[in-house]
Amino acid sequence: MGDPRLISVLIDEASISRRIDELSHAIARDYVGITGLVVVGVMKGACIFTADLVRGLSRAGMSGIRVEFIRVSTYGNEVKGPEDRGRVTSIGNLTCDVAGRRVLLVDDIVDQGFTMHAMKRHFLEALGASEVRTCAFLQKRLTNPTAEVQALRSSFQVDYYGFEVDDLWVVGYGLDVAEEFRELPYVAACDPTKKASSDESQVTPLC
Ligand code: 5GP
Ligand code: MG
Repeated sequence: MGDPRLISVLIDEASISRRIDELSHAIARDYVGITGLVVVGVMKGACIFTADLVRGLSRAGMSGIRVEFIRVSTYGNEVKGPEDRGRVTSIGNLTCDVAGRRVLLVDDIVDQGFTMHAMKRHFLEALGASEVRTCAFLQKRLTNPTAEVQALRSSFQVDYYGFEVDDLWVVGYGLDVAEEFRELPYVAACDPTKKASSDESQVTPLC
């Protein structure tokens, strides 16, 4: 796979595309007769998934969808550490008013679940959306969740997800490690502790 940090391909391109098609049809069936849905993708990780999902929804017959993106700062570090419990530091502004509207929140991955849960509350309570459903590209099968995480995971589940993955750091298809690998068309397991194969990752990021 070239870079020593990339351990193996977990989900290939063809599987992603098939699953997005299935997911889009399932979502479109649930929203039959509903117009004016606002699909909100969480930047940057869910940008690629959101772009593919909304086109899937259109192919599955949905129309009148508004597409928005929102920035949510969760983890300050490259990779989440054990001390990062429920740290949703800030939720950015939207460029449209969602009061009284139905929202589908789209994120790249549900790990402990705090981000999606906090977003859903924010859209319902602070922004006044009439209904919020949630869709994650990936959901992690946690090996050793804390009692707090177990309680959250059993009281809150996403409405839709693409694939379950093991409790590893995953990259590709929008997901990064320190802003790298988002462009990969597949999902790979990553070991961020390994050294990069080129000097490129040592260059100071532009933003
Ligand atoms: P949660 O609040 O569910 O614990 O964390 C969700 C957020 O953490 C995701 O939106 C994502 O930004 C980040 N995250 C969690 N696990 C991974 C992972 O394995 N890879 C990447 N790239 N981001 C992750
Ligand atoms: Mg995120």
